[in-house]
Amino acid sequence: MKAENAHRPLIGVYPGSFDPFHNGHLDIATRAAQVVDELIIGVYATPAKNLLFSTEERVQLWRESIAEQGLTNVRVEGYEGLSVDFARHTHSKVIVKGLRSVMDFEAEFQQALMNRKLAPEIEMLLMVSDQRYLFLSSSLLKEVAKLGGDPHDLVPAPVARALQRKFGKSSIE
Ligand code: ADP
Repeated sequence: MKAENAHRPLIGVYPGSFDPFHNGHLDIATRAAQVVDELIIGVYATPAKNLLFSTEERVQLWRESIAEQGLTNVRVEGYEGLSVDFARHTHSKVIVKGLRSVMDFEAEFQQALMNRKLAPEIEMLLMVSDQRYLFLSSSLLKEVAKLGGDPHDLVPAPVARALQRKFGKSSIE
């Protein structure tokens, strides 16, 4: 799916709440970054859910982890409003989403059809989760961290440290 010619790099956006992001999100971003020329992670500022991390914190956590991973063609921006408008604004042709289950598929399928209606020039790229992260969600991660569980295998180090700061559990080192 790479750009057809050198003059028009293929840009993709990967939108989400990422409150906080975890290894399942990082896996999708890493793989998507191998498909497009440039990937922009879009941190949605105002999701209809209670947030643990501010938009600035969610953006910063992604930035630290991307630098640690050496993902040179990935950058992070916060955004408000429609994902298709964010995609247009960033000259992206592709919106990337991750799929864990049939439930994810149903929601993303409906969203994809709405996005096509709103912005037919933008293509959805639905990527299947790695098996290791099928069970992983931000809400479950927060619950585990809140109750003192160790999230080290589930998130990059900057996110583990941020969860420790939020919940102050000694089990998260
Ligand atoms: P939302 O956009 O509903 O707030 P998230 O911020 O949790 O959801 O996730 C953003 C994107 O990452 C969505 O496309 C979601 O399906 C995907 N995603 C979430 N968890 C995983 C996972 N464990 N593996 C792969 N993709 C995931």
